[in-house]
Amino acid sequence: MDLKSVKKLDAEDPLAEKRKEFFLPKEKIYLDGNSLGSLTLVAKRRAIEVVDKQWGNDLIASWNLHNWIDLPVNIGEKIAPLIGAKQGQTICCDSVSVNLFKLLSCALTLNSERQTILSTRDNFPTDLYIAEGIQRLLGDGRCHLDLVERHEISARLESRPAVLLLTQTDFRTGELFDIGELTRQAHANGTLVVWDLSHSVGVLPLELDKWKVDFAVGCSYKFLNGGPGAPAFLYVAKRHIKNCEQPISGWMGHKAPFKFEKDYKASDGIAKFLSGTPPILSMSMLDAALASFKNIDMNQLRAKSIQLTELFLLLLEENGSLEQLQLCSPSDANTRGSQLAFSHPKGFGICQALAAKQVIADFRSPDLLRFGFSPLHLRFEDIWHSTRAIKEVLEEGMYLLPAFNKRLKVT
Ligand SMILES: *Cc1c(COP(=O)(O)O)cnc(C)c1O
Repeated sequence: MDLKSVKKLDAEDPLAEKRKEFFLPKEKIYLDGNSLGSLTLVAKRRAIEVVDKQWGNDLIASWNLHNWIDLPVNIGEKIAPLIGAKQGQTICCDSVSVNLFKLLSCALTLNSERQTILSTRDNFPTDLYIAEGIQRLLGDGRCHLDLVERHEISARLESRPAVLLLTQTDFRTGELFDIGELTRQAHANGTLVVWDLSHSVGVLPLELDKWKVDFAVGCSYKFLNGGPGAPAFLYVAKRHIKNCEQPISGWMGHKAPFKFEKDYKASDGIAKFLSGTPPILSMSMLDAALASFKNIDMNQLRAKSIQLTELFLLLLEENGSLEQLQLCSPSDANTRGSQLAFSHPKGFGICQALAAKQVIADFRSPDLLRFGFSPLHLRFEDIWHSTRAIKEVLEEGMYLLPAFNKRLKVT
């Protein structure tokens, strides 16, 4: 396919205007929105306003004056439509890791006659580390982590675990789990589900209420563009909220935090899942960034995401790069998220050499070159240029130079 036909795709793209809402460095092609989303212009303005006017000038009055105190709930309600949740079930707080600790603890308590958390060996490490931490804390008799391969889940559910803990979009390959189907199978065995939506939210149409999901967590600094270290979110189905006692029972989850009562009384609603004081600077930027998802049709966004990844593969195929890069993501676009991974023994060097050509991807140990596709701001033209850069890097062989192979702390 030639550049002219690719540009035609941009001309026909119903989401093309969205790009104008982002601050994007002119020379870079950013294919890492699945790791750290890009800066939106509204978030940039909001950061300055919150620092200068709200914190700087209005100081402590801002908790009421600018509604800082309601940010966790208000942001939760902005994320809710993106995950198919009705009101009162989603809240923004802490990191994915901390929220998993809260929700796994609740799920184990709700299913207290059982002990096992079932998950996959290739789950995102923090999800498993947190489950192991709960196992150490409670002892193996109260919490036992059982890890299987992806294809073994359905059969293993028949051993009736307490909780099924899965990440919908595999962080390496982008391979998807069918949330609706696995949740149904789990429930048929009396198992509760905790879904991690970190690489899903903001690019995939999600229907947590319809799928009868019990609990979910997700990340806001990836496709939601919340900013580095922006707080995560959690979802608890309405039917479970009143029965949950979350273990990090800090004052922000109290019914009346500013009564400073001696005893802990959990808030009635989703606010009971809060713990400490919200990080207002981060939350404000996330709150602003979510404006770019207002009135977005998630099916349309998904369609563009698929178009982007399919074009990327087609152009790499046409220019011969796939003779050296081996696709590790599913070849069927419907069974992968908005990312593509390729293995290559020198994947790290290739990633660095691409960065030198202003194409930003990332590397996942041991040998995966990973590209993320943010449909809100990527153009089809960017795909054309980045696949050319890949071909050049592979042909020039510069990725073999020691300068491109110095390992960094963050990859
Ligand atoms: C990014 C990511 C996380 C991040 O966890 P934090 O505790 O917020 O740092 C967790 N799980 C998955 C699947 C992720 O992709």
